[in-house]
Order: sequence, then structure tokens, then C-alpha cells
Amino acid sequence: MTDFLKALEDIAGARAITCDASDMEPWLTDWRGRYHGSAQALVSPPDTQTLARIVKLAAEHRVPIVPQGGNSGMVGGATPDGSGNAILLSMRRMDAIRGFDVQDRQIVAEAGVILQNLHGVAEEKGLRFPLTLGGKGSATVGGLISTNAGGTQVLRHGTMRALVHGVEAVLPDGSIYDGLSALKKDNRGYDLKHLLIGAEGTLGIVTAASLKLVKSLIDRSVVWTGLESTAKARELLLFLQGRAGNAMEGFEILPQHCLDNVLTHIPGTRAPLASAAPWHALIELVRDDASSPDPAQTAEILMGEAMERGLISDAVISASEAQAEAFWKIRDSIAEAERAAGPAMQHDISVPPAKMGAFIDHVAPLMETKFVGTRAIAFGHMGDGNIHFHVMAPPGSDAASWNETQGKQISAMMHDLVVKWDGSISAEHGIGQMKRGELARLSSPARINSLIAIKAAMDPYGIMNPGKLIPLASAPHTT
Ligand SMILES: Cc1cc2nc3c(=O)[nH]c(=O)nc-3n(C[C@H](O)[C@H](O)[C@H](O)COP(=O)(O)OP(=O)(O)OC[C@H]3O[C@@H](n4cnc5c(N)ncnc54)[C@H](O)[C@@H]3O)c2cc1C
Repeated sequence: MTDFLKALEDIAGARAITCDASDMEPWLTDWRGRYHGSAQALVSPPDTQTLARIVKLAAEHRVPIVPQGGNSGMVGGATPDGSGNAILLSMRRMDAIRGFDVQDRQIVAEAGVILQNLHGVAEEKGLRFPLTLGGKGSATVGGLISTNAGGTQVLRHGTMRALVHGVEAVLPDGSIYDGLSALKKDNRGYDLKHLLIGAEGTLGIVTAASLKLVKSLIDRSVVWTGLESTAKARELLLFLQGRAGNAMEGFEILPQHCLDNVLTHIPGTRAPLASAAPWHALIELVRDDASSPDPAQTAEILMGEAMERGLISDAVISASEAQAEAFWKIRDSIAEAERAAGPAMQHDISVPPAKMGAFIDHVAPLMETKFVGTRAIAFGHMGDGNIHFHVMAPPGSDAASWNETQGKQISAMMHDLVVKWDGSISAEHGIGQMKRGELARLSSPARINSLIAIKAAMDPYGIMNPGKLIPLASAPHTT
């Protein structure tokens, strides 16, 4: 054992640290199985004070730290490189709820609290944490903050950034930043909280957060509709925004092929509509205030009108909470179904919402024509302009070699098009190691140089999650 590891064990305690390859193995590969790394130890601190001492020690020894929550991230952000120099810092043990304020609708949760558990705790108190996503059974508060996660309810409640009141964090020198206080106003200059949100563990480690809660739902109605085109989907979205306003929490679109994939690979799923349609929309209407209209009745009326206006070809309104869940299960299983279907290049991108349909219609055939045998599938959060644009490899392709050859060309072309359409190459998953090169290639000098300068100021030894997000600082970017 090295001096560093002995000192680490003294701080964390023997039970909180392992150097055993088989113990570490499950945490050294990302969710999609695309990145694999190694680490000299996996350490799971029990509290902020212990973590602060660990970070101070790592800074003294210049040992890289890779923070990890639920390891459900999509861009390889929580996977160390292959050198074996880093320590993998698991935050899963820090999973206490530190406080709850029903009146101010606020909860203080430690970084390791799993999203699904957070939902449960809020519900027990008659409140709700409104962000949700397919990885809710493993994604943690710290990971959600560090990726500024989005999900399916952003339309009404915003991304994680809109739901974080304050954070507690350990900074790269081992100091503790206590920003949990429930202040409504605080103008003491730069807001560290906002720097840490979306920082992907490159500026410090989030240890706890005070989070916004909203009123519980009284009821909801989930609608599955068939549509002729993305243009009709956009029209439907605008129609519902005008008529249902704040009652609409989610508006997701997916093509028929995407639905077929889920039905093939995910047991227990059934097609919601009797016949196929080029596009489908999943819409959630809710009520959290007794004076608001019943969402089931609203859905009934609005879908009738949408049909009369020729916006939709078919619709089914959930008749029970079980059916509503079954509809959402289809949406939440898309990533898992695709993983089972074979290799694909995934692009989590955004364009201005008004252009989303046109972008999909333009780019999908372009990809399939240029890369013969591939299949381009676009689905996502229509209200946010956030498309998950996935290009599946020709059948029988070898994942590793295809990713590195044609896959890379596909991603470069996709990202070039995104930039051309005034979009972002990362809408909600972050940059991680997957898009680091593309961020450098396609960002303005102002953006890149600011990222590099902030990183250098806060983490001068570069120990916090190296190789992620921040492009290499070797040469300043110039126009
Ligand atoms: C089926 C499925 C569906 C998904 N759907 C969505 C979706 O709709 N929207 C969406 O935004 N994401 C989605 N995701 C991606 C993923 O769930 C989110 O990125 C989530 O925020 C990751 O949380 P995590 O705890 O698993 O973080 P990890 O994967 O462990 O880490 C993610 C990043 O955060 C850093 N990090 C983790 N914890 C901390 C901490 N405490 N302090 C500092 N840095 C930290 C890591 O170093 C890494 O860079 C989905 C994932 C799956 C598997």
C-alpha cells in the first residue's frame, strides 16, 4: 500500500475504501458500456467532514478524484481514465435527508440521495420534487446537479438549475463551501452554486443541496396520440400551450420505429394505439390545485378539438394511474431498448424549439442517405427543443470499430448541423469525456477560454475529474 492509500484509509476508515478489482469493477464502466477506466481505490465517505479531509489529502498528493453518484450519466463523466491514478469517489453512502420545510416547500438532501427516494420522501409530506427521468432509480442528487439534468417535466418546472436553492460542496483544496441557507435574496457576487450546477465534478464535489419542492398532484391525465408529422406535433404543442397553459407538464414525441423498438425489447409493454402512426406524442396534463379543471375532462375536450382541427390522427387518454404509468414506461424505456437493439451514436442536442421538427425532417434522411444502412431516430422533449437524435449502426456492425469509424463521422456531421441551426451539442446530458473534443472544436473562444480560466482558478492542480468537460488548456483559443 502506498503512503497515500494508507493516509486515505486512516481518514476514511477501512470499511469505506477498497482497492479490490472485483469490488471496483461495476463502477468503472459507464451506463452505456462505452467507457471503461481504472482507479487505485474506490472510496465512499460517510459525511462532508471526512470528504473534505480526503480532498485535502488528494490535493497534497496531486491525486485525481472522479466523483460518482448513480453512474447513470450518458457521457462517460463518472468513469476514470485508464491510467489507474485516480480515486473513484462514490457519493452513494451520503444519502441522508437533512431537513424538510413544508411551509417553504424545501428539502435538504445529501448528494447520494437517489431521485426515486427523493420523490418518495417528498410525497410522504404531501409535496413533490418535480424533476423526473428514466434513470430515476439510480441517479443521485449530486449527479443531477452536476449534470444540470433535465428530463420530462422541464416544460413546466425547468431543469435542475431552477430547482436548486443552495448547495454545500467540498472545493478542490478541501475547504467546505456552505451555501445551504434558505435565502430568497443573496447578491454577494458570483454565485458558486450556479458554477457547480452543470460542472460535472470539475470544480468541486457537491455534498448536499437544498431543493425546491412543489405542491403534490391531485390528479393527472396522460394522453398518447398518433400524428402525421413533426409539423403537426408542433401545432399540437402550441394549441395545448394556448389552451391548457400551466396544466401541461410534459410533451414528448417519438417516431413509430422508436415505439416498435421498445415493444420488441422491453417486456410488459403494449402499443397504446390500435394502429401505427408516423409520429406519437405523449402528453401529461396535471392538476395540483382544487380550483383548476379536472385534467381528464380537459384532455377529453382538447383531444376532441385537436382531432377536429386535423392535428392528431388518434388518441387514447389514460383511464387509470396504472395506464398512465404504462404510457410513461414506454417513454422511459427508450434508452434501455436501444441499448438492447445494437450499436448507435447518440446525440443529446437542442435547437430553438420552433425549429425542432424541421431539424429532424431535414437531418434524418440526410444521415440515412450519406451513411447507407444506418437508421436515424429522433425523439425527445418537444417543448424544450431537446432532441435525442440517435443513428443506429447498419445491422451486424461491430460496436467498437463502428463507433470509432463511421460513428465518429456521423457525430461530427450531426454537431456541425446543430451549430448551423443555432443549437447546442449538449442539451441535458453534459459533455463528460464523450463530447469534450467536439466542445473544443465547435465553441467560440469566449466560451472555451472562460471555461479554462474558471477551472484553472478553482482547481489549480487539475485534480477534479480530469479529462472531462474542460478542453485541454495547452494553447489559448483565439479567433
Ligand atoms: C434510462 C436513463 C434515462 C435517462 N434520462 C435522462 C433524461 O431524461 N434527462 C437527463 O438529463 N438525463 C437523463 N439520464 C442521464 C442521467 O440519469 C443523468 O445525467 C443524471 O443526472 C446522472 O446522475 P448520477 O447520480 O447517476 O451521476 P453520475 O453518472 O454518477 O455522474 C454524472 C456526472 O456528475 C459528476 N458527479 C456525480 N456526483 C457528483 C457530486 N456529488 N459532486 C460533483 N460531481 C458529481 C460525475 O463526476 C459525472 O461527471 C438518463 C439515464 C438513464 C440511465
